[in-house]
Amino acid sequence: MKAVTVQPGVAGSVRYEDVPEPDEASGSVLVAAMAVGVCGTDVEIASGAYGWSPPGRDRLILGHESLGRVIDPGPRSGLEHGDLVVGIVRRPDPVPCPNCAVGESDMCRNGQYTERGIKSIDGFMSERWRIEPEYVTRIDPSLGLLGVLLEPTTVVTKAWELVGSMRARAFWEPRSVLVTGAGPIGMLAALIGVQYGLDVHVLDRVTEGAKPQLVRALGATYHSGAVADVGVEPDVVIECTGVGSLVLDSIRVVGAGGVVCLTGVGSGGRSGGLSPADVAREVVLQNNVIVGSVNANRRHFYRAAQALAAADREWLGRLITRRVPPERIADALERGPDDIKVVVEFGG
Ligand code: BGC
Repeated sequence: MKAVTVQPGVAGSVRYEDVPEPDEASGSVLVAAMAVGVCGTDVEIASGAYGWSPPGRDRLILGHESLGRVIDPGPRSGLEHGDLVVGIVRRPDPVPCPNCAVGESDMCRNGQYTERGIKSIDGFMSERWRIEPEYVTRIDPSLGLLGVLLEPTTVVTKAWELVGSMRARAFWEPRSVLVTGAGPIGMLAALIGVQYGLDVHVLDRVTEGAKPQLVRALGATYHSGAVADVGVEPDVVIECTGVGSLVLDSIRVVGAGGVVCLTGVGSGGRSGGLSPADVAREVVLQNNVIVGSVNANRRHFYRAAQALAAADREWLGRLITRRVPPERIADALERGPDDIKVVVEFGG
């Protein structure tokens, strides 16, 4: 079969090539790939800056935002031939640490976890893939190709769960949220904020085109200036850019007792005049929480599948701005100015 592979650590090493059929040891459920979403992590791996190949091999099958159709459910999976499924990305570390031991490997403590298509286990950009029944999420069949948005939705589902968990520390009834960055993560964070009935504000650089339209179609408010000009003091900020100045502005703007959830990974950036001690002062005097969030576990996949199933199909469809065949993987990894989510489409 064919697969998109990469040599982690080596820029420009991505190719679409023949590989062996998936090893039965990788799971009893056999799936035909329908589509795989491309995200910043894939671009980083393709650039040689991130990623690990499986032990004893140079190359890794890329792709962690999966969607496929079950060809063979195998024994005891509860799945049926033809079901639409998405694979959970992370696997527990072998020790295991306490979090991995209780099924929360998204919170792995020792860093020895593995991730499909990212860290030491093959991903989903192959014509067929196998998976263990306990790492499969079945999705509403009416989602069709839109199911490829599930994995990024799990990332924001976990972020929202963290925000909600602040109820344990004090009276907590957030009403407004600022989402920084109108990429796929920002859009899906906004979608869930709207589903929760919050007053949602989304900030991005662009002033026109699909992003402002999509935000308004959700019933949220779009902003394109500085954080300080948004004009609301949000109870929650979901930061989805990783841009240093936006991270600081988010900490500055959030209301007292508020939560800033960081989901973006960037580098560098200006401090905008705020020293680390200034940041501490902002956070301490307002009892604010700054929390980072990455990855997702089975519970988040389950909830994210509910959120997607409840969302407007036409709106979700507009998030997928390009569908590219796997032989044109280089184009898929190239992000255009109007791109939100690019997906690699397999025949399955
Ligand atoms: C994926 C996560 C993963 C993270 C770091 C993200 O793009 O969605 O599943 O944990 O990269 O490897």
